[in-house]
Amino acid sequence: MAAKNPVPNLSPIVDPLHLALRNQLRYRREVLAEAAARTPESQFMHLLHEVDAALDRLEGGLYGICELCHDTVEDHQLLADPLVRFCLDHLGPAEQGALEKDLELAAQIQRRLLPKCDWRCDGWHVAYHYKPLGIVSGDYCDLVMGADDQLYFMVGDVAGKGVAASMLMANLSAIFRALIPLGLPLIELMERANRIFTGSTLPTQFATLICGRAVSGGVLELCSAGHVPALVVTRDKVHQVDSHGLPIGLFAEQKFRSSRFELEQGSSLVLFSDGISEARREDDDYGYERIAEAVARSFGLAPPSVVANCVSDLESFMGDARIYDDQTLMVIQKSI
Ligand SMILES: [Zn+2]
Repeated sequence: MAAKNPVPNLSPIVDPLHLALRNQLRYRREVLAEAAARTPESQFMHLLHEVDAALDRLEGGLYGICELCHDTVEDHQLLADPLVRFCLDHLGPAEQGALEKDLELAAQIQRRLLPKCDWRCDGWHVAYHYKPLGIVSGDYCDLVMGADDQLYFMVGDVAGKGVAASMLMANLSAIFRALIPLGLPLIELMERANRIFTGSTLPTQFATLICGRAVSGGVLELCSAGHVPALVVTRDKVHQVDSHGLPIGLFAEQKFRSSRFELEQGSSLVLFSDGISEARREDDDYGYERIAEAVARSFGLAPPSVVANCVSDLESFMGDARIYDDQTLMVIQKSI
């Protein structure tokens, strides 16, 4: 039985997140109304009432505003629970406790998705630094062995922060881990991953990403989807590999390009998220040049030491300044 829609179709909603949530809520209302018609349980009636109230708030322009402080409710909270009526500061103790448990579980799941921190395989040595802004991160960082002992490495940044972004990060991880064993050419891998990711995200969600493939003999192939540049740092030179593609998750039929180069012994390929390059102290960004200088000063050291030196350089630059974004930095070297 299709439920009668309780709200008029004409509405002034323009926020894409609110539009997407309204569609979700309308669908949930139909499912609930059908269940309530079969079994008039009080929990169905209570939820139906809550959904109707949320739809009324959407139509009346009061949706996503905390009923206590009238401040904006965080987007990730609305995505996690579109019925929520209070901002994080004004949830009741029971809701706060449940939320904290959920967050800790999400953090545990996310930590298990990360690769080994000091990774050695045929011809390559990799290390990384991964620091969430909060309990969970929207940065994506992974290392996967593909067919013919080729190492695939990914560093990405999902739009937004917190739980919603971390769920998309987990989605990216699952997509790449499922596709890499197929042994597709790198560009096709990105195009397929983009199609699947686009089909599973809301219109407001996307991710920037670099996916690379390391072949034994020192050859690397990189494909970037709108991500901040990768840096190839030798003792006295820095080569910047820019992105020519859009982020993934925007258009299903998007095309990508890749570039190939050989990494010399001792040189490092450095991938990072903008939480590193755009880390800010007063009105000064940390920037690509400081990253490259920190890596160049570590020439001759193995990736774990290069990463540690980069992190300590960033920390001394930041001093007491606040961090506003998740941070990821990966260093890849040809092993001796
Ligand atoms: Zn509030």
